[in-house]
Amino acid sequence: MDERPRILIVEDEPAIADTLVYALKTEGFTPEWCTTGRAGLEALAARPFALVVLDVGLPDGSGFDVCKQIRARSAVPVLFLTARNTELDRVLGLELGGDDYLTKPFSPRELTARVKAILRRTNGSGDVLAGGAGSPGRPEILDNRSAGTQAASEKRPHPFAVDEEQCRISYHGVALELTRYEYRLLKALVQKPGRVFSREQLMAAAWEDPAASLDRTVDAHIKTLRAKLRTIAPNEDTIQTHRGLGYSLKPAAASAPPEPR
Ligand code: CA
Repeated sequence: MDERPRILIVEDEPAIADTLVYALKTEGFTPEWCTTGRAGLEALAARPFALVVLDVGLPDGSGFDVCKQIRARSAVPVLFLTARNTELDRVLGLELGGDDYLTKPFSPRELTARVKAILRRTNGSGDVLAGGAGSPGRPEILDNRSAGTQAASEKRPHPFAVDEEQCRISYHGVALELTRYEYRLLKALVQKPGRVFSREQLMAAAWEDPAASLDRTVDAHIKTLRAKLRTIAPNEDTIQTHRGLGYSLKPAAASAPPEPR
């Protein structure tokens, strides 16, 4: 028995597949390659896999259709490989059940990094197949806070106040109108001012369903969050971007009022 996570590659271009197989082997995975959607589905029916790398343009149809068929019976994470922007639009439109995507051309290092990130997120070593209930890893960021209802974050010297019972956050005493994801994203940032969160970590904090999580979704929610904060304090750049790394909450200035009321 091979204990290394098995990765199924469904890709009709041998040059790309060869690169993938080599890169994944090097990183300690056991890759298996097939060239058609049908062969991929057969492999999935026969053996458990920790993750599927799925090309969108396959000789016997679309990778999206293959993904739908996979989703009908398994929660195995799916990483799409897309060739064109039109395909990318569909991936981003989502509802397709994919967990992430890479646009060709990509580097082998990019691929293995994404694979590892997805597996971390989904607790993955094949367990995701069991039951198909899709119980992704608990968001570690939020787990290490104290259990008391008096959230420690309310005492931090920054202009935010988090009301976990009502799922509300106020900023300089003004209650923010937040969507569910904005609330969770901002809460993660507010609870660790100054800490830089990668998009992946923010996704883990904000999304229960990894199928809905894409980097660009984090960016989009950060953008709307910033706009909302700016309407209250136009001159504060509260959420900071760390290029190539992620986002952090700017540690509070000494003058910021610690309590909203
Ligand atoms: Ca192709």
